[in-house]
Amino acid sequence: MINVMKLGDKTIGECENCGCRFAYGEENIKDFKLYGGGKLQTILSYIECPNCGMQHKVRKGVVEE
Ligand SMILES: [Zn+2]
Repeated sequence: MINVMKLGDKTIGECENCGCRFAYGEENIKDFKLYGGGKLQTILSYIECPNCGMQHKVRKGVVEE
């Protein structure tokens, strides 16, 4: 699980693969739609580490205090 911190409207993510920290916003989040049995099952939201390209799952639109 990725560690996240809020910084204004950006979120700070820490990559467990390469150890770097990076800020991301809504515009950096990509959606992956998962279909099963001919219908949409779930949407996975993820961001890519700008350093190593590893994909991290994020929960879009959910702000945890
Ligand atoms: Zn990384």
